[in-house]
Parts: sequence; structure tokens; C-alpha cells
Amino acid sequence: MKIGVLGLQGDVREHQAALEAAGAVPVVVKRPGELDGLDGLILPGGESTTIGLLLDRFGLLEPLRQRALDGMPLFGTCAGLILMATEIAGPDAARHRLSVLDVTVRRNAYGRQPESFEAEVAVAGRGGDGAKVRVAFIRAPVIERLGRGVEVLGEWEGSPVLVRQGHLLAASFHAEITGEHRVHEIFVTMAASGSNGAGRT
Ligand code: GLN
Repeated sequence: MKIGVLGLQGDVREHQAALEAAGAVPVVVKRPGELDGLDGLILPGGESTTIGLLLDRFGLLEPLRQRALDGMPLFGTCAGLILMATEIAGPDAARHRLSVLDVTVRRNAYGRQPESFEAEVAVAGRGGDGAKVRVAFIRAPVIERLGRGVEVLGEWEGSPVLVRQGHLLAASFHAEITGEHRVHEIFVTMAASGSNGAGRT
């Protein structure tokens, strides 16, 4: 199972380690040609305006959007979620985005850098067993609206923080910096069953 990690900014190495722990082979992606032959791709956190700009400059934005629309499994964490969202609430919309996941998010709504925190989030739903996973919220976006077909796999204080829409998985939090790999396992399982969960033979 070859899973790409977008290598333009953010916790690339931590995602690679979590993917290895989850039984996948991580591949760092910086150019469009490197999208070939992947079973899925992770969009790490960082700063969504910057990552979006870099995606555009590196010629990755449109090819990646097309792959996502064609069913390539994506997992976005924090800024990655913002890049996947179809709608941003408030004035602070990252201009270059994939706009593939039908949710509305508000950037930085869990607080600025000094208000960063770790929390235990119960992960349930398809692929999850309700076990608590320790994750980190760092300038994290709040998911304010869920489109039809978006299921909630994890909540924090009554709000969705881990969601899935078919082959798309996204989290408000960082799942890669606390030594956990449970959420990565869920993504690897999704990628193994192919696009749209339809099963690949
Ligand atoms: N606040 C950042 C943004 O809006 C996301 C922070 C993160 O990825 N940790 O892009």
C-alpha cells in the first residue's frame, strides 16, 4: 500500500512514521508525476494559505483535485482539512484549495498557537472501534457544517473533529505528533478498499 505525503510544508516525517506503523509505504510527493501509482495521499497540517499557494506554484493543485474527484483517497489534517473543504466561514479563506469535501470550516477557531492543546478523541464509525486516540489541536479549524454524506468518526466537546465523505478523511487535529497511528490505520484501511470504499480487486 503506497501512500503519498504531500511534502511542501508541515509534519511530513511524522506522517511517514505513522504510515509505516500502520503498515503502509510512505512516499513524499512534491511534483505532479509523483502522484502516479499512489493508493492515497495525506495533506499534512501547516498553514493552509501557504500550502495552497505552493500547490498552485508546483502545478499540483489541479492534478490533485482531479485525482480526488476521480476517487483517490485523501486524508487531510488541520490545514489539510482546510484545503479539502468546499467552504470557509469568515474572511480568512485560503485562496487556492482543492474544495472536494462538503464541509464548512472556520480557521483558527480552536484558538491561536498559545491555546494549543492535546485531547483524547474517541474514534468510532466504520474502521474505528470507539477507542480513544490522543491528538493535538494547533491553531485548529472548527468544522461548522457537514454536507450530506459526511459522517462523523470523532467528536470533541460535541463538535465533529474527524469526518469522512466516501474516500475523503479529514481531521481538525494533528494525528501524527502524539505517537499514535490509529487514525492513519483507518486511512490505510480506506485506501486498501479503494476509491469510494467500493473495493479494488
Ligand atoms: N491555522 C492554520 C491554517 O489556517 C492550520 C494550523 C495547522 O495546520 N496546525 O491554515
